[in-house]
Amino acid sequence: MSTAKPSIRLLATGGTIAGAQNAAGGYAAAVMSGDELLAAVPQLAHLAQISAEQVARIGSQDMDETVWLKLATRAQAALDDPAVAGVVITHGTDTMEETAYFLNLVLKTDKPVVLVGAMRPATAISPDGPMNLYNAVAVAADPATKNRGVLVVANDEIHFAREVAKTNTTQLGTFKSPNRGLAGLVNRGRIHFFGPTVRRHTAASEFAPLTATALPRVEIIHAYAGLRRDLIDVAVQQGVSGIVIAGVGAGNLSSVALQACAEAARAGVAVVRSSLTGGGVVERNIEIKDDELGLIVAEELNPQKARVLLMLGLTRSNDAAQLQRWFQTY
Ligand code: GLU
Repeated sequence: MSTAKPSIRLLATGGTIAGAQNAAGGYAAAVMSGDELLAAVPQLAHLAQISAEQVARIGSQDMDETVWLKLATRAQAALDDPAVAGVVITHGTDTMEETAYFLNLVLKTDKPVVLVGAMRPATAISPDGPMNLYNAVAVAADPATKNRGVLVVANDEIHFAREVAKTNTTQLGTFKSPNRGLAGLVNRGRIHFFGPTVRRHTAASEFAPLTATALPRVEIIHAYAGLRRDLIDVAVQQGVSGIVIAGVGAGNLSSVALQACAEAARAGVAVVRSSLTGGGVVERNIEIKDDELGLIVAEELNPQKARVLLMLGLTRSNDAAQLQRWFQTY
């Protein structure tokens, strides 16, 4: 029997997992390279042969469409290499859910793709990065991970890209999957998968492999008591292709702002209603007459993930009915 370990490609982008703390209690993200992260966890050699590539060196608050396109290209190249069993991506936790969902839609593969980060910098007391990285590599190296879509591993939990959300500023258990629950658990490299994800992803995604070289501009506008229409009007004047409303409750917004959204939709801007509550479904035609106003609902996607799907959808169509179907599919 061969004792060769699976070959894993590590794509490093920065984040707190690569961060260094200073004496005053602050820290800088993205200080350490991918190779340095690997060297800090020698036990990884028991799991896989790992080669590291530095794709970016940023705190994930600086993640943007340009880096996403580069990351997707590098990840797809690694996945297309028959020698590579899976890909692990180190990433800041702030926007990890957005990057994970983007890759979940654009990577043409059934191989494991795992994003991993940390809440504490590498030089903190009791950093969580090394164990998270160990668990992430274990998940990426396991053949049972195939065809589960892009996953996020942190705090001994495995999350689906579509479901995961950062819910706490500092705690290790920040990641939750509020609607449909965990993909599984991982305890010091031992993996327990629960069910598969139900929505389409990766190999079955119409948006994979990625062909676009730029993404259309989509802005998110946050609703609250007293929301005026001005920001919606400014977005339209700026020439956005889409607007995601981070709505109160089940995707609601003030009458005056709703009127602005209806006018935007009539002018050809795709308008999606999502919820900032962090859980539940935004349904069509309940309090708001979506059919009449030409609006789209995000269903379970949070505002930032709704923006990702809307950007990709708009690369193919700006028909509201077609965009709505994609929100019911992915
Ligand atoms: N702002 C940092 C980032 O997202 C901190 C969050 C983290 O990595 O835990 O890169």
